[in-house]
Amino acid sequence: MNLIRIPVLSDNYIWLLCDESKHCVIVDPAESQPVLDILAANQITPAAILLTHHHHDHVGGVAGLLNQHPDLPIYGPEETRTKGATHIVHENDIVNVENFSFKVIELPGHTLGHIAFYQAPYLFCGDTLFSGGCGRLFEGTAEQMFSSLEKIASLPDDTLICCAHEYTAANMTFAKSILPNNQTIHDYYQKIIEMRENQQATVPTTLQKEKKINVFLNCHDIDLQKNIGIKPNSIPLSSVFQQLRAYKDQF
Ligand SMILES: [Zn+2]
Repeated sequence: MNLIRIPVLSDNYIWLLCDESKHCVIVDPAESQPVLDILAANQITPAAILLTHHHHDHVGGVAGLLNQHPDLPIYGPEETRTKGATHIVHENDIVNVENFSFKVIELPGHTLGHIAFYQAPYLFCGDTLFSGGCGRLFEGTAEQMFSSLEKIASLPDDTLICCAHEYTAANMTFAKSILPNNQTIHDYYQKIIEMRENQQATVPTTLQKEKKINVFLNCHDIDLQKNIGIKPNSIPLSSVFQQLRAYKDQF
C-alpha cells in the first residue's frame, strides 16, 4: 500500500491510499483538481471516494471528481447523502473495493454523523483526532466526542492517524500551556516548530505518539486536571475533557 498526502486549501489534507495494482481510494476530497493531477501523473485509477463527514472542506471536490469518473462509488455517513454519497455506511460496516477492506467506526462529536475508515494500520479520522489535538464540537456533546476519542485510543498503538488538517503546531502550543513541565510535550513542540519552518507535514502521526503528546487523550493526567483548575479525580473524565476543549476554544 502507498499512502499519498495532498495538501489543499489553507491547511487541509486529502489522503489517497493506493494498492499494488495502482487503484486508490480518495479520502475527504476538499478539491478535485489536485487529486486529478496526482492520478494522471502517477497513472492511478480511483476505486472509491470515502467521506468522513459533511463539511465543505471534506466534500468540495466530489462533483469535480465525478465529472471525470462518473461511476465512482462514494461511501459516507447519512449526513453526506446530499454531498454525493452513493453508499451510506454505519458502525462496523466493511467497505470492500478492489484490494481494500475498511471498517467503519462511528465517531460522533465534531459532527453527529462523523465516521472514520480503518484498515490496519491506516485510520482516516477526518476532524476527530488531530496530532496534538481534536476537532471542535460543532454538533455533538463533549461526552460523545470523549467516547469517540476513547474508541480511537483502543486501536493498536501502531495505528497511523491520517487526519484532515495540519493543526499540529497550534495544538502543541496549547499542549505546552496546559502541561508546561512535561518534557515529552516540550520536545515534540520544538520538533514540530522546526518541521513547519521547513514546510514539512507533521502527519500522519501514530496513536502511540498521540497517547504521549495529545492532551485530549490524557484527561486522566493529574497535573493536567490541576492545571485547568480541577481537583484531581473529582469529576468524570468526560467533564475534564469538556473543560479542556473549552479552554482550547478560548486559546
Ligand atoms: Zn469538519
